[in-house]
Amino acid sequence: MKHFLNFSFSQMKLQDYIECERRFELKYILQQAWPALRSEPVILIEKQMQLGKQFHLLAQQLFSGIPESDIAQQIDDINLLEWWQNFLPFALPLTKNDHYPEYKLSGRINNSPFIAVFDLLVITKENQFIIYDWKTSQKKQTRSELKEKIQSRLYPLLLAQAGKYIRRDAPAQPDSIEMVYWFTNYPNEPETFQYSENQYEIDIEYFTNLLNEISHKFESGFEKTENLRRCKFCQYRSYCERGDQAGLSEAVNEELWAEQIENLDIMQIGEIEF
Ligand code: SF4
Repeated sequence: MKHFLNFSFSQMKLQDYIECERRFELKYILQQAWPALRSEPVILIEKQMQLGKQFHLLAQQLFSGIPESDIAQQIDDINLLEWWQNFLPFALPLTKNDHYPEYKLSGRINNSPFIAVFDLLVITKENQFIIYDWKTSQKKQTRSELKEKIQSRLYPLLLAQAGKYIRRDAPAQPDSIEMVYWFTNYPNEPETFQYSENQYEIDIEYFTNLLNEISHKFESGFEKTENLRRCKFCQYRSYCERGDQAGLSEAVNEELWAEQIENLDIMQIGEIEF
């Protein structure tokens, strides 16, 4: 793994890799600046991004103990207010458990460093470890799409590995971990994925193979995706001669939030390292 010196993996980076090897190379290996707008209309996307970011910050405040009445006074956007009103009935019961907003983990898989930042980690009285992720896009991804996401596999795996460092008396076991996606626009349709010992073993092998594959790409080359739809929303399309016409990506606000939150040097991830 000599290529990955000083490189930390995250769900965002690996998601980029499996969607397009070339994008992974341009973005994270060559660190190319964005040559093109990611999607249009720009003002709408900018607003979506801001709302997504604001929502995550409000949620973080709630789980940090700031009274809801103080938080509500900061909201001056009708869409954000609607999301917030959707969120409270779901979120408030969670505060009765041990809860940790913007929970940061760093660890290693096959000796390569990984980082993760959970929107929220809840540990129940029954010692269930539940990872929550807030989704603010207009369109809800299907359950099968969510299940296939790198995030759905990587976060529980890292939590299982870190388990004994979080609760020394009752460490997290794969069977006691859940991943829950909650949607601002679909508040009554959260998606829950129970983790397991079997899935943990499968995922260790999956990520080990993925890292080996990426390592070999430094010799064989990073290929452009054959799925041209992915190029439509990609900021590197002018590098790849995949057209200048921008598309409207409904997931862009979440992607940009995830990029911001993950755009941390591994040295900044200090809460739990294992
Ligand atoms: S434009 Fe297409 S081929 Fe090029 S990096 Fe983006 S997704 Fe990959």
